[in-house]
Parts: sequence; C-alpha cells; structure tokens
Amino acid sequence: MIGLYVHIPFCAQKCNYCDFCSYPSLIQRQSEYCDALAREAMLYKSYGLGADTVYFGGGTPSLLESSSIAKVMDAIHECFNVSPDAEITIEANPCTVTAQKAADYRALGFNRVSLGAQSFIDSELSALGRLHSSDDTHRSYDILRNAGFSNISLDLMYAIPTQDFASLSTSITKVLNLAPEHISCYGLKIEDGTPFGRMLESGIISEKTDDEYADMYEQICTSLTLAGYGQYELSNFSRTGFESKHNIKYWQGKEYIGLGASAASFYRNCRYTRTADFDRYIADFVNDEHYELSKDELMSEFMFLQLRLTELGASKAEFSARFGKGIDEAFAKPLAKHLAAGTLVDKGDRYVLSQRAYYVSNSVLCDFV
Ligand code: SF4
Repeated sequence: MIGLYVHIPFCAQKCNYCDFCSYPSLIQRQSEYCDALAREAMLYKSYGLGADTVYFGGGTPSLLESSSIAKVMDAIHECFNVSPDAEITIEANPCTVTAQKAADYRALGFNRVSLGAQSFIDSELSALGRLHSSDDTHRSYDILRNAGFSNISLDLMYAIPTQDFASLSTSITKVLNLAPEHISCYGLKIEDGTPFGRMLESGIISEKTDDEYADMYEQICTSLTLAGYGQYELSNFSRTGFESKHNIKYWQGKEYIGLGASAASFYRNCRYTRTADFDRYIADFVNDEHYELSKDELMSEFMFLQLRLTELGASKAEFSARFGKGIDEAFAKPLAKHLAAGTLVDKGDRYVLSQRAYYVSNSVLCDFV
C-alpha cells in the first residue's frame, strides 16, 4: 500500500516565512490545475496501486471549491485502489473553513483535517503574514467538529520572532483546551528569499538563539506530554491511535506517490519531483529531479528518518531484511559515538534517540548521512 499526496499550490497570500510551492495569484486557474491532477493520476492507473493514506496538502487545499476537489478525488478513486479504511486528510487554513465546505469534505471521504492554527496570539499571526485570527481557529475548529470530524490535527509554531515563553504558553493552553487528536509543532526556520529572510538581513527581525529555540521546544514537549499526548515523532504528538498514518510512511521509508506541482514521489527506490513551475506542470508534469537512490543513500535515509520516530526508532530486523547487513555493521562509528554519549539507546530490537537527544537531534541524525 502506498501513501498518496496531492499538492494544492494555491494560497490567498504568501506568508512571510513561506518557501513552499504556492501561488497567491493563481486560484482562478484551479479548474485547469485540477484537470491536470486528474490527468497525472491517470499515469498510474495501469500500476494497480493500493493506497491506504491520501493527503491533500499545500498551499491551501481548503481554498479550492469543493467541485474541484471532487474532480481530483474521482480521478484518485479511478486510478488507485483506495482502502475503505484509508486515512484521508485535508489541510485547511482557519479563515477558509465554512460549514458547507466541512460537510462537503465529509461527503468526499475526508476523515481527518489538519488545521494550520500556528499561534493563538493575533499579533504573532499577523507578524507571520497569516490571514486568520485566533477566533477564526476556534470558529473553524467548532465547524469541523460539528460536521463530524473526530480526527483533527492542529499545527503550532514556535520560535516566531515576536514570540516569548509567556505567549507560547498561552498558545499551548489554547491548543490543549480545544483537545485535538493530533498536534504538530514546528520551529520557525527563517529561509533566504522569503520576506522574513529579507527582514532578518536588514535587522528588522532577529532569530531566536539556539538556546531559546531548544527551550521553546522543551516547553512544548513537556506541556503536551503532561497533558497526555504521546510524542511519537520529534515534532508530532497525538492521542493513542491518532498518529498520522500518512506521515509515518515518510519516516518509515515506505513508498508514496505525489501528484501536483513540486510534489515528490518515492517508488521502487527512485525519488522524483514534479516541476514547481505551474505552467510546465500543467503542460506535461515534467520532473525537476528523478534519480535512483544508491544502497548507501537508502541506508542513511532509513536511519535519518526512522530515528525521528521516538518510540518505534530504527528497527534492527527491518534494516537487515532490507539491506542484507546489520545496522551495527553499516553504522559502527556513529552508533558507538552516540551510544557512548547517551544520545542513542539500544532497546534490543531497535535503536531510539534518548530523550535528551530530542533537543539536539539534528547533530545526531546528521552523523548517519
Ligand atoms: S498558507 Fe502555507 S503554503 Fe500558503 S503561503 Fe502560508 S505557509 Fe505558505
């Protein structure tokens, strides 16, 4: 079973930190784009692939008219064998959710919504360039619950330039009061070429220090786990049974197909990425990148991604079955280093990050690349 990702590259406006593939001025071309998505899905029809997760991400999928989403969903069902119990997620921006859209999503088979709350402090949302307010998040959350969604994920961002520990605490409390099944927490990284990147260069904003960044992350981990959420991945927390099945596929190196501009696929050890150029994508789905991963690259990815899964970690048996040699043999040096440093723990059948390594995870994971 593969995971299926559908990229919807439309947004009402570009956020100040965004370097994703999204086009604020092209929503009027949604019909043309969704026709292209349906055509791209047809490329896979003869493969006979089963999918047990479908994820509409972006961009802002909830900007689309429901009829556009229905067209893509029809094509997906025609070209892939979607399991009856598949996890089917749509990302939504709080200012775009209406009762009608929520009802349409249910009717179209979506059973999970990822809501981009980011913060519950309006001045932080405004600094980020988000169009929604904290009230919009509460309103859209209620709409989704009333429409029958029993699996909602909220995104929360930390290390926002104007954020402090007190305001982060307020956002965490408000998330917990809503009681979503899943919470994703991402630390803001300021990228070159974004409005934040330019503001950083000209000294208008500053980045959090490494210590502040780690302390904010720790504040989130502590608060959410104390509230009963399991931290199943470095940045993701859930109630038992509500882990994101789709994202776990990425971390476990399972196969996935991405449809849409800039969408990446991993199939039969090949990675390929469709062009991010809107018109070129619509014309012929040309790839910007297409290559077969070497065994060394696959082994590195196995460690780099699976160690992010805090409980499951990197399975020794699975590694041997996949690569014909043991983890201990393939990664003797970094394993020895991190076991001695206490940043990795040998659980017998698998290796996992120690809890204190969560705060310096990049420095551990990079040693396996
Ligand atoms: S909503 Fe998401 S994809 Fe769209 S501009 Fe903002 S960060 Fe980028």
